[in-house]
Amino acid sequence: MELLGKSKNELRDFCASLGEPAYRGGQLYHALYAERRFSVREISNLPAALRERLAAETTFTLPTVRQTYASQDGAVRYLFGLPDSGADAKRKSGPASVEAVFMPSAGRQTICISTQAGCAVDCHFCLTAQLGLIRNLTAAEILAQILIPLEQHKTQLAPQTNIVLMGQGEPLLNFEAVMAALRIILDPEGLALSPKHVTLSTSGIVPGIERLAQEKVRPKLAISLNASNDEQRDAIMPINRKYPLAALLATCRNYPLRPWEHLTFEYVMLGGVNDSAEDARRVVRLLANLKSVKVNLIPWNPGELPYRESSADDIEAFRKILVDRGVPTFVRYSRGRDVMAACGQLALLNIAPANADIPAPQP
Ligand code: SF4
Repeated sequence: MELLGKSKNELRDFCASLGEPAYRGGQLYHALYAERRFSVREISNLPAALRERLAAETTFTLPTVRQTYASQDGAVRYLFGLPDSGADAKRKSGPASVEAVFMPSAGRQTICISTQAGCAVDCHFCLTAQLGLIRNLTAAEILAQILIPLEQHKTQLAPQTNIVLMGQGEPLLNFEAVMAALRIILDPEGLALSPKHVTLSTSGIVPGIERLAQEKVRPKLAISLNASNDEQRDAIMPINRKYPLAALLATCRNYPLRPWEHLTFEYVMLGGVNDSAEDARRVVRLLANLKSVKVNLIPWNPGELPYRESSADDIEAFRKILVDRGVPTFVRYSRGRDVMAACGQLALLNIAPANADIPAPQP
């Protein structure tokens, strides 16, 4: 029995199946996720005989940290090697890998995690799209991207942890595993993070947003907008042909925001593509009927794709048009720009067979 990724109820049922009181499963759950005890032998509030039995009959499998890259700005990028799956066997480049980024700042750390290896959505400005979809991650693989960086930085953690589901993959196309991980991340007895500090970013999968709206426990929602009309969005995000702006924004209008919540629209600034004053005015009109929105402008990260950065003046002019018309708008530079910050860059690099494996904290 693999423990990582299991819910509280699954662990309670498992302990009951061993003839133990079910509450032992709750203790196990708290130890694994809240205390990050990756070895059942370290869980001292379990009886010694149960610890021995769990050590013999269970596993707790973390992915390998294939490589880490430390940025001058303090961010650490992780490349995790995933265990082989049937699909991986067909890949010439070996088992799949995914990225996460640990970003410390004053009073908090933010961890950007992946939800799929590769991605099928095919946004043209995104390097991950070039991988195609390799496979969905399991809830365990999603959780491990948080547990490992927290454990490796445990002596210097700030009081608050933010999680953003903005790495490789479209979270709403791996809905079950993402929600299973989120229920543990947001559970006060699990990782105990506030929903105010956890953000799921989607390319605009309308049925997925509608499904997320029904969830009792859910993170904040960010929509990757990146264009000011359908023609432009069709050209850079083909998913827009399936879920065009009118349908996406209608779903956003009906999305049940909590009193403290904003709907965030992410807008990657692509020089000469979507960054004109006319684009900014169209974005204002698109968002006019939505309550509690904010916009994050993300300067394009130069890479191998055929786009260029917007100038600082164009970004500021765009921001000012939105702000002057009452749309709260912020410019968000990617952390770790000197160590390949565009999503998918590390995984693509891994296709060149040069990385040494580094052991993750092991049970
Ligand atoms: Fe997938 Fe996100 Fe990249 Fe689009 S931007 S291809 S949704 S990983």
